[in-house]
Amino acid sequence: KPSSTNSISEQRQSLPIYKLRNELIKSIIDNQILIVIGETGSGKTTQITQYLAESGLSEKGIIGCTQPRRVAAISVAKRVAEEVGCNVGQEVGYCIRFEDRTSKDTSVKYMTDGMLLRESLLDPNLSSYSVIMLDEAHERNLHTDVLFALLKKVCERRKDLKLIVTSATLDAEKFSTYFFECPIFTIPGRTFPVDIFYLKTLEADYLSAAIETVIKIHLSQPKGDILLFLTGQEEIDTACQKLFEYMRNLEGDVPELRILPIYSALPSEVQSQIFIPTPPGCRKCVVATNIAETSITIDGIFYVVDPGFVKQNCYNAKTGIDSLIVVPISQAAARQRAGRAGRIGPGKCYRLYTESCFQNEMLPSSVPEIQRTNLGNTVLTLKAMGINDLMAFDFMDPPSSQSLVSAMERLHALGALDEEGLLTRLGRKMAEFPLEPQMSKTLIASADLRCSDEVLTIMSMLSVSSIFYRPREKQDQADRKKAMFFQPEGDHLMLLNVFEAWRNSNYSNTWCFEHFIQARSMKRVLEIRKQLLTIMDRYKLDVVSCGKNYTLIRKAICSGYFAHACRKDLQEGYCTLVDNQSVYIHPGSSLFQKNPGWILYHTLIMTSKEYARDVMTVEPKWLYELAPNFYKKANPERGSKKKRAE
Ligand code: ADP
Ligand code: MG
Repeated sequence: KPSSTNSISEQRQSLPIYKLRNELIKSIIDNQILIVIGETGSGKTTQITQYLAESGLSEKGIIGCTQPRRVAAISVAKRVAEEVGCNVGQEVGYCIRFEDRTSKDTSVKYMTDGMLLRESLLDPNLSSYSVIMLDEAHERNLHTDVLFALLKKVCERRKDLKLIVTSATLDAEKFSTYFFECPIFTIPGRTFPVDIFYLKTLEADYLSAAIETVIKIHLSQPKGDILLFLTGQEEIDTACQKLFEYMRNLEGDVPELRILPIYSALPSEVQSQIFIPTPPGCRKCVVATNIAETSITIDGIFYVVDPGFVKQNCYNAKTGIDSLIVVPISQAAARQRAGRAGRIGPGKCYRLYTESCFQNEMLPSSVPEIQRTNLGNTVLTLKAMGINDLMAFDFMDPPSSQSLVSAMERLHALGALDEEGLLTRLGRKMAEFPLEPQMSKTLIASADLRCSDEVLTIMSMLSVSSIFYRPREKQDQADRKKAMFFQPEGDHLMLLNVFEAWRNSNYSNTWCFEHFIQARSMKRVLEIRKQLLTIMDRYKLDVVSCGKNYTLIRKAICSGYFAHACRKDLQEGYCTLVDNQSVYIHPGSSLFQKNPGWILYHTLIMTSKEYARDVMTVEPKWLYELAPNFYKKANPERGSKKKRAE
């Protein structure tokens, strides 16, 4: 396809980074570590790896580039493969959890930061790499932060390894100081002014405000595409649906508005549609999660609508509770979002909050994930690498000692660490699984309890979001179909029923369609299940079926997730064992309004209330039996006394 090849090379040459190609290569050759700063869209992620491969660095080892997000790793690898002219998995590949699209020919490898962390567990020197690029360092993802410290050490041991740290913002000095005062390479930006509009008064319902703003832009503003930032899949689906309806009901001759969602659970063919340029007379509106803030650049955006929120994983070290919370973004993030409108010409950004809110309520920059998230997995990984003194570990911004201690206590309760805080044999096995510690423990326990076949299925199902499909026009029908899978013991067993029914249908797509199940999600479940099977096999953990012995299955889950158990509260809801937090069963759960005695949740989401999603029933005596350490600490009796005393 000579014409498209031609246009691709023209596109590559028009990127701001292209003019600095040779200088950049020279800087990388001359320095072991280099910080690269450049506006989003300047070509850092897609070009630097190619420049290095073209200049021969890939002959000494793989050129690896990390991404904080799965979607970005896939999307960028596809783009670069296209630019290079190969299939994904040949010279250019990617590797994310549960999916490895690389081969022995792969010289440029995109991967999530979590995958590189796992690789360094197996090969601490990362000896197959000649260059590692830690991309999107400004995001300060948990894994990226851990990699900072690990790679700093690797660079001391391996003088031949090149490390590139890229960032879209100006925290370069801090990075440079941390990395032995290494040089900073700046790619001059090419940005246009962006007019910022604020609300005069705060809107209670930002979703409706966002939809109205999009429609208003479409009907009144000159050509140019729109980018709307929302917090997650459900919100994005709702917004897209409402936008469709709004457009359909508009009277008169209205130009077409193409509404394109983007979030990680979306199949990648659908994701790549956001990159297709819009034909004349038509406008597109991309409705995205934070992924479009810096990881993915969509050309043609002139208008940004920013409600000012993001969904974050938060961990409360005091209560030991993880939850997904929608929080205000930082000023730095708001500037990044606005900047997306000024790449090709002067743009406009509509902030759905007040100027005073921006000035006085938003933090200057986001809190690094390491300081707000559950460190269980990180501590386990570091311990498995033989790093025992975590207080002395060279973090760029250390987590609080409370959250480190809390993570160690949890791992101790799980049996992964001993009294001295050293890794146990169980802990070593757990570290092998690319899963949260609770999940690995559950799988290992299920082999002992001889119900691993079923538990493996349940854990795989829980690892995939959006199993059920609930189209707006057919909600009742979809709910009736879903109810066929209900099991009095709760959602975990319901998920097992779904998988087994699908297996009995011989993994049929038609079956999925008829039962309002997302076939694609089920395929992914099957993939994950296969991978977990391989690990079970490697550790000689028996995979045996217990048939329908739901007690065994629930016990196995309880031995990993005991800390998620809640007892019924005197009020309508439930109550966690540590700290007596109030929790309610999510309306999407099969146990909603069924009010069982004790429950155990898989995840908590915080919206108007703290909601438990994916819930099953448990017996309190199992807690004592399976996690005596935890039970002693979080004795419900003691908890209620404490509350009374306060
Ligand atoms: P940076 O990392 O500096 O933010 P990138 O290398 O990601 O920049 O992007 C450079 C250019 O490549 C942008 O113009 C972007 O639109 C384009 N691009 C990236 N991925 C794709 C894709 N999957 N399809 C089409 N264009 C893409
Ligand atoms: Mg990038």
